[in-house]
Order: sequence, then structure tokens, then C-alpha cells
Amino acid sequence: MTQTTAAVRASGLGRYYGSGDARVTALAGVNVEFMHREFTAIMGPSGSGKSTLMHCVAGLDQADEGTVWIGDTELTGLTDDALTDLRRDRVGFVFQAFNLLPTLTALENILLPFDLAGRKPDRAVLDEVITAVNLRDRLHHRPSRLSGGQQQRVACARALVTQPDVVFADEPTGSLDSAASAELLRFLRRSVDDLGRTVVMVTHDPGAAAFADRVLFLKDGALVDEILAPAADRVLERMKSFERAVA
Ligand code: ADP
Ligand code: MG
Repeated sequence: MTQTTAAVRASGLGRYYGSGDARVTALAGVNVEFMHREFTAIMGPSGSGKSTLMHCVAGLDQADEGTVWIGDTELTGLTDDALTDLRRDRVGFVFQAFNLLPTLTALENILLPFDLAGRKPDRAVLDEVITAVNLRDRLHHRPSRLSGGQQQRVACARALVTQPDVVFADEPTGSLDSAASAELLRFLRRSVDDLGRTVVMVTHDPGAAAFADRVLFLKDGALVDEILAPAADRVLERMKSFERAVA
């Protein structure tokens, strides 16, 4: 049953900035589901609402309209404290800019969510994640002594080690060269296939999207298309058609 239930679900999500003539529609009634053990890429032109959608479904930002569920928990109406606990315990985040603490070692960064929660990690899961991100010989290095790719893998390990319901990654390969990107994407793929995680990734890169099970396309705050089992050339074609529509 868990295979067919949604890890995250949103209904009628609207998000607006400003008012009057300056009003911007960042999300216009988005309905979306992210299933357990599914890897979804979200694409769309700059300003189409990708980050806003991710932030609203992850409980980082509050939509003006609509409802979000993470598992069976409806986010609307949760107190700030409850929302903070939910983000810490049930959601993992990876950002373009890594967001590691510079004074902590790689291992200390990976264990940070447990320190914050006052919990102990599951040793077997920790071991599995460290192996999967290929960081075993870098665990005692500070971020400044790691490459960009290694730093982002630390960020991914930190996002996964709490076994969250879902990992959200906003342009996770945006600061990486192509070799480091490929390694990171293979890792995200394995975290779904082998570790049973659920991943939602915003990306500009059709090659990155091709690692996902499906690609959702946003335009002007609305979901306008979906490609299942995406191949990079089809994703690129779809992106180009957006550019032509804008031109
Ligand atoms: P994307 O991630 O696809 O580039 P965003 O979700 O960041 O798009 O933004 C969607 C729209 O909402 C854009 O028009 C953007 O300018 C606007 N927007 C996003 N955040 C804010 C904000 N804090 N204040 C005002 N407008 C915003
Ligand atoms: Mg964005």
C-alpha cells in the first residue's frame, strides 16, 4: 500500500506576491503528487515558480491558497514549532549552494540533524549513506578541504540520513562541473532505487532531468506538461518549445 500512496500531495496551491498592478502570480492553482520511491524533476523557465512550489510543498513557505500534505500530515494550520519539527524530522533539503557549516567536519555536518533533534542516528543507515555517497575517506575533512562535488554529496548525505519522507533538491548540480554532476545524480538515483527514498529535484539541465522517473514542467506558476521515463533529448525539445513560445 505504501508504494501507491503519495509521500507529498498538494491541492490548489496558489502563491502571490505584491498587490494591485505589481501583483505576481508565482503559483496558480497547482495540483501535484509525489509518490513514495519516485524521483521527480521539476523544470520550467526562470521565474516559472519552481522554487516557490518546492518551498511550499516542503513547508519552507506558506501558500496563500490550497493544501499540502506530507504523508498524512496536513501542513496548513500547523503551528510554527510543529512545522519546524516536521521539516527537521520528515523532510531533507539540498540547495545549490551546499549550505554546510564551515567549522564542522563532513561527518559532523552529516550528523547535524540528529544533534539538532537530540537523537542518535541509525548506525546501519549512516553507514549505508556514507558508502553510497562515496565519502568514507573524507569524513574528517572540513568543507573548505572538499571539492564542490564532495561538499554537495555531504549535503545529500545529511538530507538522507534521517530517512525523510522526501528529499527536495533545488538545482543541486547548479554549481558543479559535469563529472561531479553526474556522480551526484547517480547518487540521487541510487537513493531512490536502493535506499527507497523519494526525491524531488528542480533543475535547468535536461541531462539531469533524464535521471528522474518523470519530469514536470511549470510555466507561469502552472503545471503544463509531464514526461514519464524522460530521455534528455525529449526534455530538451520540450524546453525549447517553451523558449519559442516566449520569443
Ligand atoms: P523559479 O524558481 O522557477 O525561477 P520562483 O519560484 O523563484 O521561480 O519565482 C516565481 C515568481 O515569483 C517570479 O516571478 C518571481 O519573481 C516571484 N517571486 C519569488 N519570490 C518572490 C518574493 N519573495 N517576492 C516577490 N516576488 C517573488
Ligand atoms: Mg528557482
